[in-house]
Amino acid sequence: MMDFHCHLDLYPRAMEVYREAARRNKFTWLVTTSPKAFAATSRALEPLPSVLITPGLHPEIAHERAAELDLLLEQIAGVKAVGEVGLDGSPRFKARYEVQRKIFGAVVARCAELGGRTLSVHSRRAVRDVLAEFERHPNFGTAVMHWFSGSRSELKDAAAHGCWFSIGPAMFESANGRALAEAMPHDRVVPESDGPFAKVGGKSVLPWNASQVAEGLAPLWATTPDEAAEILARNGQALLYLMGQR
Ligand code: MN
Repeated sequence: MMDFHCHLDLYPRAMEVYREAARRNKFTWLVTTSPKAFAATSRALEPLPSVLITPGLHPEIAHERAAELDLLLEQIAGVKAVGEVGLDGSPRFKARYEVQRKIFGAVVARCAELGGRTLSVHSRRAVRDVLAEFERHPNFGTAVMHWFSGSRSELKDAAAHGCWFSIGPAMFESANGRALAEAMPHDRVVPESDGPFAKVGGKSVLPWNASQVAEGLAPLWATTPDEAAEILARNGQALLYLMGQR
């Protein structure tokens, strides 16, 4: 099993979840929400080849952590992937949109300057602006749009920009989530948990629950769950290869 977007450091029993994820998953991408959290998590967790820990600056806390931007830009030089980063244009965070844009713009520019990075990207109500940033810096690398929730036409645009999509079990809970998952390019979809934030049936999704994604996708893609799991495994390998190339 693979998980391409997990806030593993934020589970109440992070150490246990970490050990279990390492045992059960071939790959887990631990995205952090701030540069200081990346530094602390990297120190606290014993490095494992199957767990990738990356620096990020979550758009929901961009205004509180703006002073850490320089640290983030420094950290990006030493890693092959970045996340969680992005923009959030929903009403709750819109007032801080300018600081979000400043940070995300600097991150994408930095990735291009360094020859490209793989990014786990948050784009709630901000897909067009996220894609505009990629257009400004075409050599930024590869974007993995996490829990994509835009419109059908925004999905088309993101796919045309070469974006990948990481989707989790919680995405299948809504009709819009299912419609988007159905329409995604089948060869650029990988599983994620987005735990502990993402919940199914009131419980945080765990890194190894990303296997439920194949079950959710099967009816939408008119495949068996096994076939869907195979496609996801193949996609995951392809994305890991791309990430390793940088
Ligand atoms: Mn997340």
